Amino acid sequence: MRIANLSGRATIVTDHGLFDVAQSSDGAFSASIDKCIGQIDLLRRWFDAARPTPSDPRGADDLIGDERLGPVVNAPQQIFAIGLNYRQHAMEMGLDLPEQPMIFTKFVSALCGPNDPLPVPGPTTDFEAELVVVMGKSGRNVAVDDALSMVAGYCVGEDYSERTLQLKGSPAQFSIAKSFKNFAPIGPWLTTADEICNPNDLAISSVVNGVRHQDSNTNDMVFTVAQLISYISSICEIRPGDLMFTGSPHGVGQGQRPPVFIVPGDEIVTSIERLGSIRNRAVAP
Ligand code: ZN
Repeated sequence: MRIANLSGRATIVTDHGLFDVAQSSDGAFSASIDKCIGQIDLLRRWFDAARPTPSDPRGADDLIGDERLGPVVNAPQQIFAIGLNYRQHAMEMGLDLPEQPMIFTKFVSALCGPNDPLPVPGPTTDFEAELVVVMGKSGRNVAVDDALSMVAGYCVGEDYSERTLQLKGSPAQFSIAKSFKNFAPIGPWLTTADEICNPNDLAISSVVNGVRHQDSNTNDMVFTVAQLISYISSICEIRPGDLMFTGSPHGVGQGQRPPVFIVPGDEIVTSIERLGSIRNRAVAP
C-alpha cells in the first residue's frame, strides 16, 4: 500500500484511484498521516478488506511532480541520519569505512514535501539521494532479526547539504549544515514495508538537469537498514513516525572533479526503485 500526504490529508494511492483515508473509512482512520503511520498494519488490513471506491479517479502517475504533496510524516519526534554509509561514497570522499554507524540529525523544520522548491543558501549546496525509513513502532534494544518489523514503510529523500558550513571548523557541523529550509524533502508517498521485502536491494539515483550523477543500489550500504535500526535502538528509544535517512551513495557533487554544486534554476530528480521519485527546483533564497 502507498499512502501520501495530499493537501494535508492522508491519502491511499493506487494506480487507478486515490482514497482519502478519513472519508473512505467514515472517520474510522484519521485524516492525519502522522496518526495513520502509527496504525499502518490496521489501515492496510482495513483497506484490503473494505475495498472502498476511490474518492478521486486519478492514480499515482497523475501525482508526479504534484506540489500539493506534503512530507509523509509532518512531525516526527526524531530524525536520524547516517553519514558515510555507502562503500563507494566513502571511497570518493577519501575516507575510511566507519566501524560503527556515524549518526547525526536533520532538524525537523527542514522537512518538506517531495516536490517543494529548494532555496539555495550558499555556493556549495550539494545533493545526496537517500532511502528514508519511516518507523511504525516503539522499541529499545531491537535485535537485528526483529528490526524490519519496526518499519512502517519507506520513501525517497534528499539530504541536501551546505558543504562549506558542514566542513567549517572541527568537529564538522553535519546537523546544522543539513537543516536549511527544505533541505529534507521526502516522498512522494510512503510505501508500506510489506511491499519491500529487502530494503537493501533497491536501485537509487539522482539526476540533476537531466544528468545522472548518482546511480547505485542500496546493497552498497556499509550497515544495512536492519543493523542501523538495531544500533540506534540500543541508545535511543525508537518511536512511531521517526525517520531515518540511511546515507547517500557515491556521485554527490563534492565527490566529483571538478565538484558539481546546486545553483538556482537546477532541477534535481531523486528516484528509488519501487518507491517513486521526488523532484526539487532550486531557487534563489
Ligand atoms: Zn546524507
